[in-house]
Amino acid sequence: MGVKNPWEPVQTYSNTQTPRLRKELNVHNKDGSFGILTTQVSKLIDWGRSSSLWPALFGLACCAIEMMSTTGSRFDLARFGAEVYRASPRQADLMIVAGRCSVKMAPVLRQIYDQMPHPKWVISMGACASCGGVFNNYAIVQGVDKIVPVDVYVPGCPPTPDMLLFGFTELQRKIREGIPNPPDPLEASGLKLVGPVGEDQ
Ligand code: SF4
Repeated sequence: MGVKNPWEPVQTYSNTQTPRLRKELNVHNKDGSFGILTTQVSKLIDWGRSSSLWPALFGLACCAIEMMSTTGSRFDLARFGAEVYRASPRQADLMIVAGRCSVKMAPVLRQIYDQMPHPKWVISMGACASCGGVFNNYAIVQGVDKIVPVDVYVPGCPPTPDMLLFGFTELQRKIREGIPNPPDPLEASGLKLVGPVGEDQ
């Protein structure tokens, strides 16, 4: 007489799985047919864009450390199709402003933004990037939305990688829903940035 297998009920159950959908609902045919999918080309393109964002390799201060953690194995930004940080703005369509932006850095930031091809998006990461944070002084830009159009603001000092991930998924949602970029602050104000990389010194 053999030893009774204590796992037999579990094994029997897992080998005879019940269907996940009730048959009477008739919402999913598993007969091998492909069925018909209808959509709009624009929606398909938006979905593709939202799933393959390439951020520019660009960090300004302590928030950038958290941004780097987001790409590590623990948080794994690659799950959302955005792990390919590009060293050239010409190959990037997302700018994550991670950290405080000094007045001297502002023309550089804007030039990188201008060099990115359309369509493009901006995430403002952290209190400093969004509103100057604790640096309420003449040297720090009091919000990068005075220089570039910001699509998503991620609060915190610093925001944790999962907060950045949440901001990132919000941006994906905006892209999929076809929500346009906010107005360009420089175009709206008619102002022009001058500085180390500007034409007008
Ligand atoms: S928000 Fe905090 S962590 Fe981020 S750049 Fe400012 S001081 Fe550093």
